[in-house]
Amino acid sequence: MKLVLATGNKGKLREFQQMCQDEVTAFSDILGDIEIVEDGDTFAANALIKARTIYEKLQEKASGEDYLVISDDSGISLPILGGAPGIYSARYAGEGASDKENLHKLVEALKERGFKETPAYYTAAIAIVSKYGEYVVHGWMHGRVIDEPRGEKGFGYDPMFIPAGFEKTLGELDDDIKSGISHRGKALALAKPIIGMLRKSEELGMRN
Ligand code: IMP
Repeated sequence: MKLVLATGNKGKLREFQQMCQDEVTAFSDILGDIEIVEDGDTFAANALIKARTIYEKLQEKASGEDYLVISDDSGISLPILGGAPGIYSARYAGEGASDKENLHKLVEALKERGFKETPAYYTAAIAIVSKYGEYVVHGWMHGRVIDEPRGEKGFGYDPMFIPAGFEKTLGELDDDIKSGISHRGKALALAKPIIGMLRKSEELGMRN
């Protein structure tokens, strides 16, 4: 059963490949570029839309291979902004905005309100779609955002996010520290036993 990741986001792909001992293939390596309309109103709904779309496209290809598709929908939320940017994190500064433009807009939102820092949290919903069914799990990382981004590591909003219990931003902390505490790492820890169970089902199914 081939594990395919339904994301075009390079930062996420790198983190998944680092966190999974299993070989994870990016969908674009098999299917090329595909535009997915994420019009759900929760992280879970959007994660399912991505995983289902890629699973269906892989089925259409009908190469005889059995696929297990995992997707991640994630974002950052600030209580002072009523939870924004939330599910709109990837397009906070507009459709097609770069990570840098989104980061800049969030920094400006803090400055406009006169906050040097304020609580924030990341959410990740991971969806798993296979012929044995669909599953969604969540993970969160709490901390604070600051109005002076620091560091070049991570991606997206990481240079302005300081996880609870740390003084450095995720832009300054190493990737392996981030995976141990991150929303994505926590969601993946819940997803792994499900992936294991689905693989077991496949093995048993093949024997019968
Ligand atoms: P998605 O690909 O539609 O799920 O959008 C996720 C967006 O949320 C990304 O483009 C980032 O802006 C932001 N994001 C999600 N997870 C992280 C993270 O771990 N670090 C920094 N930004 C993140």
